[in-house]
Amino acid sequence: MVFGVAGVPTNYKGKFENMFPWLKAMGLNGFEIQCTYGFKISEDRREIINKFNGEFQFSMHAPYYINLGSLNTAVVGRSKANMKEGIELAKSLNVNRIIFHPGGGHENTEQGRRKAIDQLVDAINEITSEIDMGNVRLYPEIGGKTANLGSLDEIIEICSRCKFCYPCIDIAHLHAREIGSITSKEILKEKLMKIKNEIPEKFKYIHFHAYTINYGDKGEIKHLKHGESMPDGSVGMPNLDDFVAVLKEMQIDPWVISEALDTQELGAKYMHDLYVK
Ligand SMILES: [Zn+2]
Repeated sequence: MVFGVAGVPTNYKGKFENMFPWLKAMGLNGFEIQCTYGFKISEDRREIINKFNGEFQFSMHAPYYINLGSLNTAVVGRSKANMKEGIELAKSLNVNRIIFHPGGGHENTEQGRRKAIDQLVDAINEITSEIDMGNVRLYPEIGGKTANLGSLDEIIEICSRCKFCYPCIDIAHLHAREIGSITSKEILKEKLMKIKNEIPEKFKYIHFHAYTINYGDKGEIKHLKHGESMPDGSVGMPNLDDFVAVLKEMQIDPWVISEALDTQELGAKYMHDLYVK
């Protein structure tokens, strides 16, 4: 069971090293290293991560500029090289999960998306055949905007065609890109059952991002703070109580990262406390 945060929480002001006991005191044991601007971690931080690895479970989020589904071959080439650096970095830190965005820049038509997915699958399979993966798994993440690659079906397809890919199910992105689809516990459970049925071996290692989100007709607008309402005053969704209930009903060993805006530790603690109750 892993519940944790994405990056250093905004509310935490102390030294990086002291953040881990602070998180632990809240019952949290997960930390997603945000490599938003590149797969680079300072020597100091590497030592601290090594020190807490085991007591904490670390995952790593790839830079946003990685775009393996791009139509621009130069971008794909650079993204492949970046991804290889990331895999080496993860191996050196004993981190086994790299989360990445499948990308954009394709033509948003059935044909355009198909081409982008084929290219992404080829690029990943090239990467993973060219280097030693060690224990590293790659997690394509559900995209939040309708134009992004990374629908539920696309994530399942990528995972079924790439030996080293496993699903990162960002339930908020899923809700947003489907324009508010997750309106009940049953609907969420159905979606997870679909993944379980189609890629059962990969499902065991599923990775979640869970928080509530503001969205419009193009999908994601903004992550909400934990407990914050939508601009129209309605309750922020998807419902985290339902999410935790589904984790339990399906007997999923959870690895859940909160990306609640500026309040990720509160969101993570909320889900953790519900889960252990
Ligand atoms: Zn992400």
